[in-house]
Amino acid sequence: MTSAAHAFIVSPWTARIRIGAFNPAAEHDWPGRRTATLFLHGCPWRCAYCHNPELQSRSSMRLLSWEKIATELATHRHTIDGVVFSGGEPTADSCLPDAILAVKGMGFAVGLHTSGAYPERLEKVLPLLDWVGFDLKSDYDGYDTLTGAPGSAARATRSAQLIVASGVTHEFRLTWHHELLSEDAALLAAHFAQHLGAQRFVLQVFRPEGVTHPAIAAHSLPSADLVEQIRGLFTDFELRGELCGLAI
Ligand code: SF4
Repeated sequence: MTSAAHAFIVSPWTARIRIGAFNPAAEHDWPGRRTATLFLHGCPWRCAYCHNPELQSRSSMRLLSWEKIATELATHRHTIDGVVFSGGEPTADSCLPDAILAVKGMGFAVGLHTSGAYPERLEKVLPLLDWVGFDLKSDYDGYDTLTGAPGSAARATRSAQLIVASGVTHEFRLTWHHELLSEDAALLAAHFAQHLGAQRFVLQVFRPEGVTHPAIAAHSLPSADLVEQIRGLFTDFELRGELCGLAI
């Protein structure tokens, strides 16, 4: 084979997808369903409260093979109600559409966790999905500081619009941490979601598990007033997480 021919050889997606972790029995990744969840490497953002910072890089050498995942999914076929792609930011992996199609081909419903960092890629996979969990980060003005990524506000806004317009069942969730988000910003973000027509809104209490940022308080609870103001905006609202100490 000539060297020129070598230049056009592309390995199959099953060899290129970068799966960092797999949970065959997740209870909380898709509300109301028991799922298998795949965690893909790669995220262009750097939120201080990230639970999976080891998945932000695409360059990890510790990967799970697609063949192993497919075998695991077949094994758990009768005990799970769907498969969730999470991360990192799963749309960072160009193999995501192929992986979704493969999972659907096995008969599973498919959910996606996304920050909306890649709206063009999200738009392509939305027609394949049965559910989306969209991680809203802040109000527009606070986005780039929270994510550490210039331009993230515009990208997340576009993605949020695409999700609602798609008609795919979804929830918007906003993680509360008082050092990263003011109550005014949280309320503005919730108003944005309501204005768009988000079906369901979740205010997530910060959990420190997995967070490696050196200067972030381990505990942070929203005020009861903030919870009630956001609750009042949505017919489907959930306060998710540790409630100990929250005066509601
Ligand atoms: S967008 Fe998600 S995966 Fe990326 S840094 Fe933020 S919390 Fe972590």
